[in-house]
Amino acid sequence: MIKKEIPFFNYPSLYDENEEVYSKAILTACKKGAYIMQQELFDFENELKKYLNVKHAIGVADGTTALVLSLRASGIGSGDEVLVPSHTFVASVAAINHVGAVPVLVDCGKDHLIDGNDLIHRITKKTKAIMPVQLNGRTVNMDKIIEVSTKYNLKIVEDSCQALGSKYKNRFAGTFGEAGTFSFYPSKTLGCFGDGGAIITNKDDVAELVHLYRDHGRGEDGKVWTYGYNARLDNIQAAILIEKFKQYENFINKRRKLASVYNEKLKDLSQIILPPGPNENDDHFDIYQNYEIEAENREELRNYMEKNGVKTILQWGGYMVHQFEKLNLNTDLPFSEEISKKFMLLPMNTSLEIEDIEYICDLIKKYYVS
Ligand SMILES: *Cc1c(COP(=O)(O)O)cnc(C)c1O
Repeated sequence: MIKKEIPFFNYPSLYDENEEVYSKAILTACKKGAYIMQQELFDFENELKKYLNVKHAIGVADGTTALVLSLRASGIGSGDEVLVPSHTFVASVAAINHVGAVPVLVDCGKDHLIDGNDLIHRITKKTKAIMPVQLNGRTVNMDKIIEVSTKYNLKIVEDSCQALGSKYKNRFAGTFGEAGTFSFYPSKTLGCFGDGGAIITNKDDVAELVHLYRDHGRGEDGKVWTYGYNARLDNIQAAILIEKFKQYENFINKRRKLASVYNEKLKDLSQIILPPGPNENDDHFDIYQNYEIEAENREELRNYMEKNGVKTILQWGGYMVHQFEKLNLNTDLPFSEEISKKFMLLPMNTSLEIEDIEYICDLIKKYYVS
């Protein structure tokens, strides 16, 4: 085996993959002096709206802000409890805290996503909403979430930051509740050259509030209607996102292809548990933001891979949110606790080629077999 060097994520490739096009998009906006809330932003919002077939798509500063604004526009506030999985980015939980609500952590299931059965036991009189996190580009079993939300009269605000284009029973992630959120952080499936985010909704009243909140509470008439934020999506980022978005189907197809190679080559190893392959379950259309596996002897495997040129990471630095002691959110989450000892991410991004994935798989096999 000839040694390869495979970084976990190839940041320069974000620009290199189509250098001329991105340079032109940036220069065009700059030459016009189009920096804040200009045509590029509205054009990008329109593209997003068409792609997801939703009534409203609103660009905001980043994914975390998208969550804060979505919660607030959905009427979630002081003292309300919001159910959220512990296996998520701290941003999901922080957003709940930022609107004055109380995050209530829920265990995850074998799919690493919020467990619809554990959730029921954590509902109280104060519970107002569920925040399912469509983690790794995979959708939660939304039938179960909708069933619970209907029965207990809870709102759904989706953290779909990792799931642009992902579907459950042919319905896009982000379209199940009051609002859905996206992040365009560089390493996300649609990554810009800095921070960026968006909110989608089919509800006019939610959209109206989000429009106000993202620009200091100001309406189109220039009057201030409420206290808002400076939470706008930067116009140059929007110009870049328009160009990236044109290739988005190709990006997703490539990720799904790479995932199928991982699945094919690793499926017989008893020491690791893989996410479902792209065509394993018709209910879910996965976009593979991440390829998260569970591995025996995780640290030793990672060291072995690193020695042989392959970088892996642990999502969220290897912690579930309940494990951050300073946040005081620890509760009994047996399955999250168990998988936190085994979960890890293999490289998954559009700069990789099939031969890279084959090299990674051969390494993993060599580690466990020898
Ligand atoms: C990326 C991400 C966010 C938001 O991230 P930003 O960096 O604020 O854009 C929120 N939740 C999850 C699960 C994420 O992966």
